[in-house]
Amino acid sequence: MQFGGFQPFTLSDYPGHIAAIAFAQGCNFRCPFCHNGDLLAFTPCEKSLYPESEIIRTLRRRQGKLEGLVVSGGEPTLQDNLPRFLERVKGLGYKIKLDTNGSRPDMLSWLFAARLVDYIAMDIKAPLARYSRLSGVVVDVDAIEESIALIAWSKLPHHFRTTAVTPLLNETDMRAVAQLVPPGSELVVQPFNPENALEPSLRNDAAIA
Ligand code: SF4
Repeated sequence: MQFGGFQPFTLSDYPGHIAAIAFAQGCNFRCPFCHNGDLLAFTPCEKSLYPESEIIRTLRRRQGKLEGLVVSGGEPTLQDNLPRFLERVKGLGYKIKLDTNGSRPDMLSWLFAARLVDYIAMDIKAPLARYSRLSGVVVDVDAIEESIALIAWSKLPHHFRTTAVTPLLNETDMRAVAQLVPPGSELVVQPFNPENALEPSLRNDAAIA
């Protein structure tokens, strides 16, 4: 897989576990509030990539100290060799948490069937009618709804999360987002941090809804 970053230790990204995080390179969304701008391009220059072999080497070295790996991004599910990478990580005895934007329910379905994920977090960017504005691209919202349903019914530990981008989402929008979350699933609302937002006008918290 192509990775644009790796953090060898985190206590806050995998609920209940000491973990590392690998950041997949490339994303199909351009959320105006994204602050991972360096991870969005699918073909970055070679030197901005983090070798998969280095991640595996570190995980091997930290066996017994770390419990899990968070695979975040970018959007990991866009890389067709994600299952192979997760198999390697599982083979080292690690639990896996996957962060996704939910645009590839086919990949989620495959990963769940192969038991390659132990925890999943999916962003719900906005009410469906405003999804494309908050994702920065035209989004197939049927795929988003399919992913939400797959995750909710997967029986895996999971949560959904929404960034409260106050210049773009009002209270009515946030209520509509909450209605997308099936009963029994948790919605975590994250505060919006305007620093380094992809859309320059948001960096000043400008009202552009
Ligand atoms: S889904 Fe949005 S927030 Fe996440 S990496 Fe892609 S552009 Fe950034």
